[in-house]
Amino acid sequence: MDNTYSKLEEENERLRKENEALIAAHKDTLSRLQKRLTVEEDLKESQERFVTVFNESKVANKIINLDLKMIQLNEALGDLLGYSREELLETCILEYTHPDFIKYWYDLHEALWKRELPSFQLEACLIRKDKREVWCLVNTIRFKDKGETFGYTSLVDITGRKQLERHKDEFISTISHELKTPLTSIKSYSQLLLRYFQKLEDEKPRLMLSKMDAKVNSLTTLIKDLVMASKIDSGKLTPRSDEYMLDSLLTEIVEEFKDTVTTRRIVLETEKGLKTKGDKFKIAQVIENLLTNAIKFSGEGTEVEVKLTKMENEGIVCIKDRGRGIAESSLTNIFERFYKVKEAESNQESGMGLGLYICKEIVKNQQGRLWVDSEVGKGSTFCFALPLLA
Ligand code: ADP
Repeated sequence: MDNTYSKLEEENERLRKENEALIAAHKDTLSRLQKRLTVEEDLKESQERFVTVFNESKVANKIINLDLKMIQLNEALGDLLGYSREELLETCILEYTHPDFIKYWYDLHEALWKRELPSFQLEACLIRKDKREVWCLVNTIRFKDKGETFGYTSLVDITGRKQLERHKDEFISTISHELKTPLTSIKSYSQLLLRYFQKLEDEKPRLMLSKMDAKVNSLTTLIKDLVMASKIDSGKLTPRSDEYMLDSLLTEIVEEFKDTVTTRRIVLETEKGLKTKGDKFKIAQVIENLLTNAIKFSGEGTEVEVKLTKMENEGIVCIKDRGRGIAESSLTNIFERFYKVKEAESNQESGMGLGLYICKEIVKNQQGRLWVDSEVGKGSTFCFALPLLA
């Protein structure tokens, strides 16, 4: 009897424990369910917030799939292009893009899908339903949703800014051309007068005329820079394409500089037989510009080192000075239009901050690269690389 009683007690205890465990498990499931519900509610709220922002935004928005088809878009995009949302849905933005930008934009998408880029930005011209052009700043990022890849794009209308830029470029181009003609006459007269006064005893007018001639030369360079910059900006930089020896071109220019610049030691070191293809005259302008800067921004008696080396299938030209160098904060901006380092603004010899911008654009235009290494107080090394012919 005792035995049966204790067995029943044991069984009772086991059942009680089991019951407790069941209650705990039930509570746990309940709390997990509650947590999931809150997460789902948060998710729903955040999705709703995104949809509201996406739809109501004044900025044109779209979501595209891997085929570049618009699977979601807002009213602002419809307004931008002059179509209804329904008309645009399931079509591709490249159908409304100016032919000049289709390939570039398509290639950026390819790079985005291949994960070569996490996002991209471009300025492109689109064609509205009424055939008017509209310029946009386009930003696209890649994202994943339920294992699938999509792209989110915002398009900001920059037509007004583009028009202003065009007016400014036309203005600069007209002014520069108008200035060039009288300047050429002034130059010829000053040279005639110089020759005339050279025959006379009096030194003074000759000295004054030489100074005037030098000023006319720097004014001519400034105007040339302005013309070149406006050509670059309007996409009218059409380079010649000839085969030439990069080492011979460099040697020629350096020799000319050595003849005229006696205040710096210009040292040339070059590999021979490096043939390239492109616009020799524009590359000459780049070398002259970099050499002029190296001289302008370094002290008398210092060395300027010019080096041409071959690396894989590129010719690399480096111009190293031991001048004042460039602060790190300026290095990223130095190739921008009209950018001048603060100290240089007080330097009478400095130009308009167009030289390096022009150099970079010319080199880029010839499939090359241009860069700089610099340390304040130690000097700068400007290098550019051009593809070589075998
Ligand atoms: P600028 O014609 O006014 O000299 P650049 O575009 O050639 O314009 O140069 C922009 C700025 O970069 C200059 O104002 C100068 O401060 C700086 N810079 C260019 N080259 C050098 C150099 N070799 N050493 C130091 N500073 C330089």
